[in-house]
Amino acid sequence: MKCYPWLINTYKEIIKQHQNKKAHHTILIKTTKGLGVLQLIKNISQWILCDNKNEIKYCNTCHNCKLIISKNHPDFYYYKDNNNKIITINYIRMIREKIFQYPKQGKNKIILLSNIEKLTESAINSLLKILEEPPKNTWFFLVDYNNLKIYSTLHSRCLIYTLFPPREKHSLHWLKNKNLKNKIFNVISLRINQGSPILAKEFINNGLWEERKKLCIYFLNSIKKKNLIKIFPILSINNTILKIDWICLLLFDSIQIHFNQKKKLTNFDEFQIIQFFSRNYNYFTLKKSITTWIKCRYRLLNISGINNELLILEQLLRWENILKFTN
Ligand SMILES: [Zn+2]
Repeated sequence: MKCYPWLINTYKEIIKQHQNKKAHHTILIKTTKGLGVLQLIKNISQWILCDNKNEIKYCNTCHNCKLIISKNHPDFYYYKDNNNKIITINYIRMIREKIFQYPKQGKNKIILLSNIEKLTESAINSLLKILEEPPKNTWFFLVDYNNLKIYSTLHSRCLIYTLFPPREKHSLHWLKNKNLKNKIFNVISLRINQGSPILAKEFINNGLWEERKKLCIYFLNSIKKKNLIKIFPILSINNTILKIDWICLLLFDSIQIHFNQKKKLTNFDEFQIIQFFSRNYNYFTLKKSITTWIKCRYRLLNISGINNELLILEQLLRWENILKFTN
């Protein structure tokens, strides 16, 4: 059974509720990305559907387990279309139709809706009606990655779990066991990825560490020469959004210096950049810089048909103005 160590207790707790016949029909997990929550829900679902479970373990060999492993279980509904920005009422209607039919295998049905922020208002209302009185042996798992506060009625119909990233020392231990031995790399990668050990591992293994390093070299050079256009080629070529996030994190670090929080720095390997900003700019200028980057990031992500290169260039020129690089 593949279960991340930081999620084992939650797994055991939910399984226990099922063993004691006291499980809630809808579990809403509030969390951040990169903690393996979907894997957790799949594990719980497999346990629920398994014909030969042994205490908290599922067997992996029965017909139901095999169907789950091959992602073909007819009673496990998972909304997968990640490209789609919204989940419409039609999908919820389809779910409602399915759950009032007999299960195709065994007696349980599972519905997994990740990214509940994709639900339209009418989809939410339709879902609420189902959750008012769901049929027996139907288990809903909802995931909220954005800590949405607007769905209070939905919250009242769910058992809510809030899952945080593991403590840094536990994540470092996990990364070390994954053969990532450089502690400095590991600490920085964890902090850049909001404490997610899974994303930190990918960050190091998929070449993002090197890409960040390269950006920092260009960035340092460009601020020394007071010419931000120098980072344009590296910023616009790929992973633009990630690179904007890295720049913002460097600026956050400079703000941390103003507040004497040196121990909490994310990019402590890039002290020259952090120091440049903390020495030369006050809190308000740094905050303003971050705000303009966040606006630029938003526009890149949400306005279709826009010329991305032009947008980045415009932002760099605006930032030069804020930093008074221009005379
Ligand atoms: Zn099984």
